[in-house]
Amino acid sequence: MLNYYNSAASAFTPKTHRAWVEVSFSNLRHNISTIKNVIGETKLMGVVKANGYGHSSVEVAKVLLEEGVGYFGVATLEEAMELRQAGIETPILLLGPTPPYQREIVEHDIGITVFNEAAILEWSQALLRDKATLKKPVDMHLKVDTGMRRLGCEPDEVAYLSNLITSNDLLNLVSFYSHLSTADNDREYALHQKRLFDKAIGELKLNGRGEPLYHIANSAGVLLGSEFHYDMVRTGLAMYGIDPTEISELDFRPVLALKSRIGNIKSIVKGESVSYSRNFIADRDSKIAIISIGYADGLPRSLSNKANVLIRGKTAPIIGNITMDQSIIDITDIDGVELGDEVVLIGSQGDTTITASDWAQMLNTISYEVVCIFKVRLPRVFV
Ligand SMILES: *Cc1c(COP(=O)(O)O)cnc(C)c1O
Repeated sequence: MLNYYNSAASAFTPKTHRAWVEVSFSNLRHNISTIKNVIGETKLMGVVKANGYGHSSVEVAKVLLEEGVGYFGVATLEEAMELRQAGIETPILLLGPTPPYQREIVEHDIGITVFNEAAILEWSQALLRDKATLKKPVDMHLKVDTGMRRLGCEPDEVAYLSNLITSNDLLNLVSFYSHLSTADNDREYALHQKRLFDKAIGELKLNGRGEPLYHIANSAGVLLGSEFHYDMVRTGLAMYGIDPTEISELDFRPVLALKSRIGNIKSIVKGESVSYSRNFIADRDSKIAIISIGYADGLPRSLSNKANVLIRGKTAPIIGNITMDQSIIDITDIDGVELGDEVVLIGSQGDTTITASDWAQMLNTISYEVVCIFKVRLPRVFV
């Protein structure tokens, strides 16, 4: 259903793609082992929401499984179901708000995040109604807000809400968690959140049921030190090879590359313009090439006259306005460019690399958003 990425990719060989997202499984495996070296025995939850941060969630999840990752985090029910329909049976945590009761969620063993009385009661009443046929409890993950001010109950509600769950046999308290808001830029505030989390753990009412898993760290939280790791860490960005702090000593290798091909080559004379609106005028006789990727693929139009690409191991600027399906680069100083040549927009060629962070800087955003902008139209190619 949602997995049109792969079906699009499988219809053609990479040789015929005009543009594509390349996903390096070997770098993914490398990053997982890098994270595992840091967390030791702590469990690893692979966060594969938003189509695995644009990398293709099912394919990524299968590699993670092979690397021994036994837990997945997603944002929506559709994302959870996509994994289940691909035959993935490991525990999944729905990180978003508590969904309304649907028995399929329980049947498919999808763990839900809870943080308020109304949702817990709705679920327990519905489970009671369906008890005779459903025959299993729902997996609940109680979330406390320690300072992100997004999802989660207030710390002073932890005792009451945890008691509601653990005093009811139809509800299974799998984990107790929170989320750091400044793990990448403010250790003091992260420590403040950790103290609130520790205090909240002390207030849990377990009613003799087993101890839940405790977790608070995202990728940047992993780098804050083992006191932030608890029983499990939830990593997305670092797994995809982007250093969340940009200054860690660890060797994270980018998993995503963005590539296209040369679709046409032309010569223009000094004073001629290229593309819509004529906002690039050649200041010399030039050789230009058309690359087969545009804003409908996720190449932001705001990178017109800003971003560079790599071709034949050299750097070439994008000139003029990026159009829906195609863009223009200046290849005057690059010899031997031919129709069909591979162009790198994010990734490496020769000794040069363009990273998602480079784009993030030009776009005034963060690398998280960059890897998520590539559209369905771009096939994902796994290498
Ligand atoms: C997305 C998400 C993560 C993963 O964050 P990264 O910074 O990519 O590691 C972890 N926890 C929650 C609750 C999330 O929503």
